[in-house]
Amino acid sequence: MTHKLLILPGDGIGPEVVDAAIQVLNSLERVTGTTYEKEFALLGGAAFEDSGNPLPEETLKLARSADAAIFGAVGGPQWDTLDRELRPESGLLRLRSELDLFCNLRPATLFPALSDASSLKSDVVSGLDVMIIRELTGGIYFGRPRGIDTRNDGVKVGYNTLVYDENEIKRIAIAAFDIAKKRGFKLCSVDKANVLEVSELWREVVSEVGSEHPEVALDHMYVDNAAMQLVRQPKQFDVIVTGNMFGDILSDLGAMLTGSIGMLPSASLNSKSFGLYEPVHGSAPDIAGQNVANPLAMILSVEMMLRYSLGEKTAADLVKVAVDKVLSAGYRTVDISQQQSLCLGTREMTEQVCVNIENLI
Ligand code: NAD
Repeated sequence: MTHKLLILPGDGIGPEVVDAAIQVLNSLERVTGTTYEKEFALLGGAAFEDSGNPLPEETLKLARSADAAIFGAVGGPQWDTLDRELRPESGLLRLRSELDLFCNLRPATLFPALSDASSLKSDVVSGLDVMIIRELTGGIYFGRPRGIDTRNDGVKVGYNTLVYDENEIKRIAIAAFDIAKKRGFKLCSVDKANVLEVSELWREVVSEVGSEHPEVALDHMYVDNAAMQLVRQPKQFDVIVTGNMFGDILSDLGAMLTGSIGMLPSASLNSKSFGLYEPVHGSAPDIAGQNVANPLAMILSVEMMLRYSLGEKTAADLVKVAVDKVLSAGYRTVDISQQQSLCLGTREMTEQVCVNIENLI
C-alpha cells in the first residue's frame, strides 16, 4: 500500500517538527510495510522568499493531487510588515480555502502522565479525550455583509453576518457523526438556538442528520453552558460539533485543559477526506533552530492523518501508544517538564517515539 503525502515544512520551528513527522513515518514504513511517498513544497515565509508568493501555484497543485498534507507552521516577525496578502499566514488561509477544508478537528486529549500539566484539578481532567469539531469555512468569519460604516447621524457602526445554509450544516454534521462512530458514539452539538435563528436551523439540520445515525447518542447544548461544562466536567463529552466562531473559542478552551500547546494536534478536512494535518502551535520564532521544540503535537497530527485520511488505524494506534509510553517513561521536552535540566531536545524526543513504534511490533 502506498500513500502520497505533501510535506509543507513552513517557517520557524516548522521544519524541525516536520522532520519529526518524517522520522515517525519512516519508522512506520519499516514496521508496517506501507509506503509513504513524500513530496515537499514551500508555504508561508519560505515560499515568499523563494518566489514572492506565500502560496505558490506549484504547492496548490501538489496539494490537490496528494492523499493528505503534513504542515509545520508559518510566520515570523520578518514578514509582519508585508502587505496582508503577501504574509505567510495569508498563504495558509488561502490554502485552506482553496482546498475547501471545512471540517476542523481539534482533539483535547490528556495523556495520563501529564495530568499535572493542566490548570484544572487532575481528577477532573485525567483521562480526558474530547474531539472538538469546528466548521471552518462558513459562519460569521465569512458572512456578508460585513464592514464598518458611518451612519447618517455620523456614528460609526461595525457589523458582521452570521449565516449558514442547510448544506453547510449538513456536511459538517455528517462528518461529525462519522467521527463519533469512530470513537464513543456520543455527539454534542453546540449552538445558541435560544437566541439565534441561524442556530435554530443548525439544530434542526443536525437533528435530521442524527435521525439517520440512531446508534450515535446526540444531544444539543447552548454555547454558554458548553463553555461552563467543559471546565466543570469535561469528561462528559466525547465529540462536540459547532460553528466557526463558537468552535474557535471552545477549541482553545478545550486545548488548554490539557496543558502545553506543544502537545496539541489538529486536522482540517474536506469532503473527499483530504486533510491538512498540523500542530496547533505557530512557528515559535523564539525557539526556532535550537532543537528544543516539542515534536509531539506534530507527531500526534500524523496519528490523526493515519486515522482520518489514510484509514491506517493500526499505524495510528501504534503512534498513540508510542507517545503514551514515552511520556509514561518520564521523557519530557522543556515545555512539559518541571525539571528543565533533564529535558530531551526535539530530535531526541522523536527518536524515543520512533524506538517505541519499532519495538511495539
Ligand atoms: P506560537 O505558537 O508560535 O508560540 C507561542 C509560545 O509557545 C512561544 O513561547 C513558543 O516558544 C511556544 N511554543 C510553540 N510551539 C511550541 C513547541 N512545539 N514546543 C515548545 N514550545 C512551543 O505563537 P506566536 O508566538 O503567537 O506566533 C509566532 C508566529 O507563528 C507568528 O508569526 C504567528 O502568526 C504564527 N502562527 C502560525 C500558525 C500556523 O502556522 N498555523 C499558528 C499560530 C501562529
